[in-house]
Amino acid sequence: MNNDEFDWGFDTLGIRVGHARTAEGEHSEPIFATSSFVFGSAAEAAARFSGDSEGNIYSRFTNPTVRAFEQRLAALEGGEACVATASGMSAILATCMAMLQHGDHIVSSRSIFGSTTVLFDKYLARFGISTDYAALSDIADWERLIKPNTRLLFVETPSNPLTELGDIRALADLAHANDCVLVVDNCFCTPALQQPLALGADIVIHSATKYLDGQGRAIGGAVVGDAKRVGEEVFGVLRTAGPTLSPFAAWIFLKGLETLSLRMQAHSANAQQLADWLVQQPRVSKVHYPGLSEHPQHALAKLQQKAPGGIVAFEVDGGREAAWQVIDATRMLSITANLGDVKTTITHPATTTHGRLSVDQRAAAGISDGLIRVAVGLEDVGDIRDDLQRGLI
Ligand SMILES: *Cc1c(COP(=O)(O)O)cnc(C)c1O
Repeated sequence: MNNDEFDWGFDTLGIRVGHARTAEGEHSEPIFATSSFVFGSAAEAAARFSGDSEGNIYSRFTNPTVRAFEQRLAALEGGEACVATASGMSAILATCMAMLQHGDHIVSSRSIFGSTTVLFDKYLARFGISTDYAALSDIADWERLIKPNTRLLFVETPSNPLTELGDIRALADLAHANDCVLVVDNCFCTPALQQPLALGADIVIHSATKYLDGQGRAIGGAVVGDAKRVGEEVFGVLRTAGPTLSPFAAWIFLKGLETLSLRMQAHSANAQQLADWLVQQPRVSKVHYPGLSEHPQHALAKLQQKAPGGIVAFEVDGGREAAWQVIDATRMLSITANLGDVKTTITHPATTTHGRLSVDQRAAAGISDGLIRVAVGLEDVGDIRDDLQRGLI
């Protein structure tokens, strides 16, 4: 680390932070493919283990390539500390293990990533941690659900797939007034478009699998926040329980961060053009995108995000059959539930990501049978449009 970086802009931080060049003089960041590290003497080994001297010990919890990714992402999110994890889900698990104990309560937004719901309702519940779900954009609903044992508010904004927004600053105020921490899953926006810590959030979660990589190559995650909660407590869970990011995957994400800002702007620009076009299609009954002036939280999106992001959802009349027909008519788009890739992906939430919900739960979540989600990639937007047009005529 050098002092210059305190003055650096976002793009410079994404390219320059975290690489301590070795004696070989390499220009690109090296991959430290080693499980352990060697000490100069028995006394030095003892000092490392006791914490009296800093340095690498064992790659379950200290690896220079992983640390470079952590430092770079911490700088981009404006956090004091970052802990990289094996996946986005293990980032959420490690955070819950570090912050919560038996008897505690979580209030979470209802429309969150499916596996996060299972983690809360099936697994954390077994250890005496309960969860209630609030309507994302309704602060009064969050307030109503907070109990004396509530310790953590968890929010994903914008939501998947309907791109509803939560007001991060209002949720942070509510959390702090009730002695809770606010955890924001920032997967959809990334720090290039939204910086939850600056809006008052305490902890940011990432599935690095998505936009941080940006090219669909690896699974990973991260937790960002202050030195005490993340640097000590979440780090302690990682060190002990070991959901560790591999140096190979860390290197991929480190390189991904170098183009993050460019890519997020380009994803947003393509998505905006696509949303503007979809609105005009006679067979499309509704388009969900924060960049549209008719989006119910368009004003909040402008305030809270630098750009509307790369996810567009739209509804076609004719239910499941019509939606599947649009999806199956595409020749270029990838039919896959993943997102945050340079390749545009298309999915039918009602029968995939939200397929395990009951009909009533799906209706309550606003996931209609005619809903299609597009995670807009970086191909020429005209080609994406032409591919969707095949099924919309
Ligand atoms: C994918 C995703 C996760 C889980 O991340 P993995 O890397 O797949 O474990 C969590 N939250 C959101 C919003 C996601 O899209």
